[in-house]
Amino acid sequence: MKITLIPLGEIAFSVMVELEKRTNRVFRCPVEIGEGFKVPNSAYDLQGDRCLASKLLDEIAGTGREREERVVGIIDVDLYAPGLNFVFGVADALRGVAVVSLSRLRQEYYGLAPQDGLFLERATKEIVHEIGHTLGLEHCDDPRCVMHFSNGLADTDWKGVGFCPHCSPKMEFML
Ligand SMILES: [Zn+2]
Ligand SMILES: [Zn+2]
Repeated sequence: MKITLIPLGEIAFSVMVELEKRTNRVFRCPVEIGEGFKVPNSAYDLQGDRCLASKLLDEIAGTGREREERVVGIIDVDLYAPGLNFVFGVADALRGVAVVSLSRLRQEYYGLAPQDGLFLERATKEIVHEIGHTLGLEHCDDPRCVMHFSNGLADTDWKGVGFCPHCSPKMEFML
Protein backbone atom coordinates (compact mmCIF):
# COMPACT_ATOMS: atom_id res chain seq x y z
CA MET A 1 0.00 0.00 0.00
CA LYS A 2 0.99 3.58 -0.57
CA ILE A 3 -0.59 6.60 1.11
CA THR A 4 -0.78 10.05 -0.43
CA LEU A 5 -1.77 13.08 1.63
CA ILE A 6 -2.95 16.05 -0.40
CA PRO A 7 -3.63 19.60 0.83
CA LEU A 8 -7.04 20.97 -0.16
CA GLY A 9 -6.61 24.71 -0.13
CA GLU A 10 -3.93 26.25 2.04
CA ILE A 11 -2.25 23.98 4.57
CA ALA A 12 1.17 24.87 5.99
CA PHE A 13 3.82 22.68 4.35
CA SER A 14 5.42 22.05 7.76
CA VAL A 15 2.11 20.58 8.94
CA MET A 16 1.88 18.32 5.86
CA VAL A 17 5.44 17.09 6.46
CA GLU A 18 4.68 16.27 10.12
CA LEU A 19 1.49 14.42 9.17
CA GLU A 20 3.37 12.50 6.49
CA LYS A 21 6.02 11.41 9.04
CA ARG A 22 3.48 10.45 11.69
CA THR A 23 1.29 8.51 9.27
CA ASN A 24 4.33 6.62 8.04
CA ARG A 25 5.22 5.68 11.62
CA VAL A 26 1.84 3.96 12.03
CA PHE A 27 1.51 2.16 8.68
CA ARG A 28 5.20 1.70 7.81
CA CYS A 29 4.38 1.97 4.12
CA PRO A 30 5.41 4.76 1.72
CA VAL A 31 3.63 8.02 2.52
CA GLU A 32 3.88 10.97 0.18
CA ILE A 33 2.60 14.51 -0.02
CA GLY A 34 0.77 14.85 -3.31
CA GLU A 35 -0.39 17.80 -5.31
CA GLY A 36 -3.57 19.23 -3.85
CA PHE A 37 -6.18 21.45 -5.38
CA LYS A 38 -8.18 24.53 -4.53
CA VAL A 39 -11.53 23.64 -3.03
CA PRO A 40 -14.21 24.28 -5.67
CA ASN A 41 -16.93 26.74 -4.72
CA SER A 42 -19.50 24.02 -5.40
CA ALA A 43 -18.21 22.10 -2.34
CA TYR A 44 -19.19 24.93 0.03
CA ASP A 45 -22.57 25.33 1.69
CA LEU A 46 -24.68 28.41 1.05
CA GLN A 47 -23.02 30.40 3.84
CA GLY A 48 -19.63 29.53 2.39
CA ASP A 49 -18.12 28.32 5.64
CA ARG A 50 -18.46 24.53 5.50
CA CYS A 51 -17.74 21.93 2.85
CA LEU A 52 -19.84 18.94 1.90
CA ALA A 53 -17.59 15.94 2.60
CA SER A 54 -19.00 13.73 -0.17
CA LYS A 55 -18.35 16.43 -2.74
CA LEU A 56 -14.70 16.55 -1.70
CA LEU A 57 -14.45 12.75 -1.87
CA ASP A 58 -15.67 12.95 -5.49
CA GLU A 59 -13.06 15.58 -6.28
CA ILE A 60 -10.27 13.58 -4.63
CA ALA A 61 -11.33 10.37 -6.39
CA GLY A 62 -11.36 12.35 -9.63
CA THR A 63 -7.64 13.10 -9.34
CA GLY A 64 -6.98 9.42 -10.05
CA ARG A 65 -4.93 6.99 -7.99
CA GLU A 66 -3.02 3.78 -8.28
CA ARG A 67 -4.75 0.56 -7.31
CA GLU A 68 -2.97 0.13 -3.98
CA GLU A 69 -2.94 3.82 -3.19
CA ARG A 70 -4.98 5.55 -0.52
CA VAL A 71 -5.47 9.30 -0.97
CA VAL A 72 -6.38 11.51 1.99
CA GLY A 73 -7.33 15.14 1.47
CA ILE A 74 -6.41 17.49 4.32
CA ILE A 75 -8.59 20.58 4.65
CA ASP A 76 -8.74 23.45 7.13
CA VAL A 77 -12.47 24.09 6.69
CA ASP A 78 -15.35 22.46 8.59
CA LEU A 79 -16.84 19.40 6.92
CA TYR A 80 -20.48 18.37 7.02
CA ALA A 81 -22.54 15.49 5.75
CA PRO A 82 -26.29 15.12 5.23
CA GLY A 83 -27.85 15.08 8.73
CA LEU A 84 -24.54 15.88 10.44
CA ASN A 85 -23.58 19.46 11.22
CA PHE A 86 -19.94 18.60 11.49
CA VAL A 87 -17.70 15.60 10.84
CA PHE A 88 -13.98 15.28 11.61
CA GLY A 89 -13.46 13.13 8.56
CA VAL A 90 -15.10 10.83 6.03
CA ALA A 91 -13.81 7.87 4.05
CA ASP A 92 -14.92 6.03 0.95
CA ALA A 93 -13.68 2.45 1.12
CA LEU A 94 -14.76 1.63 -2.44
CA ARG A 95 -12.72 4.40 -3.99
CA GLY A 96 -9.87 4.37 -1.46
CA VAL A 97 -10.15 8.05 -0.63
CA ALA A 98 -10.80 10.07 2.51
CA VAL A 99 -10.93 13.63 3.72
CA VAL A 100 -9.99 14.99 7.16
CA SER A 101 -10.69 18.45 8.58
CA LEU A 102 -8.13 20.20 10.77
CA SER A 103 -10.38 23.09 11.70
CA ARG A 104 -11.58 21.84 15.10
CA LEU A 105 -8.42 20.00 16.14
CA ARG A 106 -6.56 23.05 17.43
CA GLN A 107 -6.80 24.15 21.05
CA GLU A 108 -7.23 27.72 19.78
CA TYR A 109 -10.60 26.79 18.31
CA TYR A 110 -11.85 26.34 21.88
CA GLY A 111 -10.20 29.51 23.18
CA LEU A 112 -7.25 27.61 24.67
CA ALA A 113 -3.50 28.14 24.29
CA PRO A 114 -2.01 26.48 21.18
CA GLN A 115 -0.45 23.03 21.60
CA ASP A 116 1.14 22.07 18.30
CA GLY A 117 2.07 18.57 19.40
CA LEU A 118 -1.49 17.83 20.50
CA PHE A 119 -2.88 19.28 17.28
CA LEU A 120 -0.63 17.08 15.12
CA GLU A 121 -1.43 14.04 17.26
CA ARG A 122 -5.17 14.60 16.81
CA ALA A 123 -4.79 15.12 13.07
CA THR A 124 -2.74 11.92 12.78
CA LYS A 125 -5.43 9.96 14.65
CA GLU A 126 -8.12 11.26 12.29
CA ILE A 127 -6.02 10.42 9.24
CA VAL A 128 -5.16 6.92 10.48
CA HIS A 129 -8.81 6.32 11.42
CA GLU A 130 -10.08 7.28 7.96
CA ILE A 131 -7.37 5.23 6.22
CA GLY A 132 -8.52 2.32 8.42
CA HIS A 133 -12.01 2.77 6.96
CA THR A 134 -10.60 2.76 3.41
CA LEU A 135 -9.06 -0.61 4.33
CA GLY A 136 -12.50 -1.88 5.28
CA LEU A 137 -12.16 -1.58 9.06
CA GLU A 138 -15.30 -0.71 11.02
CA HIS A 139 -15.57 1.15 14.32
CA CYS A 140 -14.00 -0.65 17.28
CA ASP A 141 -15.31 -0.96 20.85
CA ASP A 142 -11.86 -0.51 22.37
CA PRO A 143 -11.71 3.17 23.44
CA ARG A 144 -7.91 3.15 23.07
CA CYS A 145 -8.02 1.88 19.49
CA VAL A 146 -7.66 4.41 16.67
CA MET A 147 -10.77 2.85 15.06
CA HIS A 148 -12.92 3.81 18.06
CA PHE A 149 -15.58 6.32 17.04
CA SER A 150 -14.86 9.85 18.27
CA ASN A 151 -17.96 11.68 19.36
CA GLY A 152 -15.79 14.59 20.34
CA LEU A 153 -12.20 15.54 20.98
CA ALA A 154 -12.21 13.91 24.42
CA ASP A 155 -12.61 10.54 22.66
CA THR A 156 -9.92 11.45 20.15
CA ASP A 157 -7.50 12.45 22.90
CA TRP A 158 -8.18 9.27 24.87
CA LYS A 159 -7.45 6.90 22.02
CA GLY A 160 -4.03 6.11 20.57
CA VAL A 161 -2.71 6.53 17.03
CA GLY A 162 -2.43 2.76 16.61
CA PHE A 163 -4.71 -0.22 16.03
CA CYS A 164 -5.75 -2.54 18.88
CA PRO A 165 -4.82 -6.28 18.82
CA HIS A 166 -8.22 -6.99 17.28
CA CYS A 167 -7.98 -4.45 14.41
CA SER A 168 -4.24 -4.66 13.82
CA PRO A 169 -4.18 -8.09 12.08
CA LYS A 170 -7.10 -7.07 9.84
CA MET A 171 -5.29 -3.87 8.91
CA GLU A 172 -2.02 -5.67 8.23
CA PHE A 173 -3.84 -8.19 6.07
CA MET A 174 -5.03 -5.35 3.88
CA LEU A 175 -1.59 -3.72 3.60
ZN1 LIG B 1 -15.06 6.28 11.67
ZN1 LIG C 1 -9.65 -1.83 17.38
